[in-house]
Amino acid sequence: MNNNPFSKKSDRAKVLLARTRDTAMQDVSDFLDIHGLYIPVLAGAMDRFAASLVPLPREAACKNGCAWCCHLRVGVSIPEALVIFHEIRAQATPEGLAFLKQRILNTSDRGDILDEAFWRSTRCPCPFLDLEGTYQCLIYGLRPFSCRAFHSLDDAVCRKGYDQGIEIQVPCFPMYRACVDLYSSVLMQAAAQKGLASFQVGFIRALEILFQDDTASDRWLNGEDVFLPAKLADFTSK
Ligand code: SF4
Ligand code: SF4
Repeated sequence: MNNNPFSKKSDRAKVLLARTRDTAMQDVSDFLDIHGLYIPVLAGAMDRFAASLVPLPREAACKNGCAWCCHLRVGVSIPEALVIFHEIRAQATPEGLAFLKQRILNTSDRGDILDEAFWRSTRCPCPFLDLEGTYQCLIYGLRPFSCRAFHSLDDAVCRKGYDQGIEIQVPCFPMYRACVDLYSSVLMQAAAQKGLASFQVGFIRALEILFQDDTASDRWLNGEDVFLPAKLADFTSK
């Protein structure tokens, strides 16, 4: 018999997380059934999830311009990649779009961007990080759920990981991360349930595919396995 009260708390947290995931899954599945599998509908689902997130607790060390974590590999669901790509295309000027595309291609040219160790060891910045100015995310309002989930209670630990190019355990609120991350896996699972080739992909490689092939979105929505070259072998939360 287990009398450890912390273990019971952890069990209840797992139940709560599972219920939240089930509710979100049902919600998105109904939403797609009613409105169809289109990019604006996926964008609507993503917006609804993003609007439901609780704010990052104030104990977190994260602040504007702190970006050691923006030198890590980002994993996303394909619906997230599609929505973010189409929002960027709709909102950016032609010059801005060309600039972002070039940054993504340049990042891809630097090495194996699907390999987490590549990002750490080379301190490769995310192409959406404003390196010239504020060190802020250029797509902050659109950023993937894994970026929203990632946080730290100690920025010095993040900096140590960056400086040494090593994988490091960052102190955080694990439940907060899990509660935000789950929306990425819910979108991934919802797309799989609709018969699409759905798995976790490297964010930048998926965007590279979308920037280089105008037909990629439609072909994926029609059931083609377009994003296989971006598939992550290991599951990641950032
Ligand atoms: S996770 Fe770390 S590096 Fe990223 S914003 Fe928070 S404190 Fe800064
Ligand atoms: S998308 Fe934005 S928040 Fe995410 S890693 Fe890139 S710059 Fe950082």
